[in-house]
Amino acid sequence: MPNPFNQPGSWLRGNVHTHTTRSDGYLSPQQTVDEYAARGYDFLAITDHLILTDPGELDPHGMTLIPGAEMFVPGGSFGYPFHVVALGGDRVPVVPDNVPPPEAMRALADQVPLCFFCHPFWSLIEGHQLLPLQGHIGVEVFNQTCRGHTGRGGSESTWDFLLAHGQPMWGLAVDDAHQPGDIGQAWIVAKSESRSPEALLDALRVGHFYSSIGPELRGLRRHGENLLVQCSPCEQAVVLGAMAGSGRASYYMPGLQRPFEEILLPFPSSDAWLRVEIIDEKGRKAWSNPFRPEEL
Ligand SMILES: [Zn+2]
Ligand SMILES: [Zn+2]
Repeated sequence: MPNPFNQPGSWLRGNVHTHTTRSDGYLSPQQTVDEYAARGYDFLAITDHLILTDPGELDPHGMTLIPGAEMFVPGGSFGYPFHVVALGGDRVPVVPDNVPPPEAMRALADQVPLCFFCHPFWSLIEGHQLLPLQGHIGVEVFNQTCRGHTGRGGSESTWDFLLAHGQPMWGLAVDDAHQPGDIGQAWIVAKSESRSPEALLDALRVGHFYSSIGPELRGLRRHGENLLVQCSPCEQAVVLGAMAGSGRASYYMPGLQRPFEEILLPFPSSDAWLRVEIIDEKGRKAWSNPFRPEEL
């Protein structure tokens, strides 16, 4: 498990789940690219349902465009399929629909450089349904469109369930934008050795990124018996651990001056992995990926 704050490279901000008029989005692919470029994004993946958009058709305005598509894998909850974003590659993968979900997922994952599960809370996916599925890098910890339109945006409990079962999953925040108002609300910030799609996919694969809907996570370091968290001005911070009930939060920390840009949190004892959340004055969060305490 990585600590991207110790890694070489540059921080690049992007969204890896977006729709356009090629499926059920409101803006054309080029209008979508224009909107993200105008907000200063470094990379974007257009991921229409079962349709791949060739980045070569678009003016990227200096952004890195990663090809992608949102796929369906049979076997989700209540007759609905799992939604899975597949990134990279030059064609829409084929998902067999007459095999058990683990086989269908394996077949999808084998055809693309990288894939992850979408909006578990919105799909009412239970953690144990995901346990046998392999080949993906993680789950969406936050989906703006699911929050904005149905209230089911956050999937932290599913993520922690997979982590607690020993699956080294990453958590991704995405817009899943269909409408212009959902653009620029949730993103990932990756530590990448270059701006190429391949380098960015490598950074995502190994978890060299954090996710945010507002705050900036600037550092995670060991400081004696504590974890030092550095961030843009925040009101609260939490370190969560692997065991049931494990974690340390700043909510009732005596004498803590708010907002803070640095905070020391005691390590939860003897945990296999930890992850950090920070919360700003508007209640907006950022999520680190999980890391092992000895890697700090
Ligand atoms: Zn979806
Ligand atoms: Zn989507």
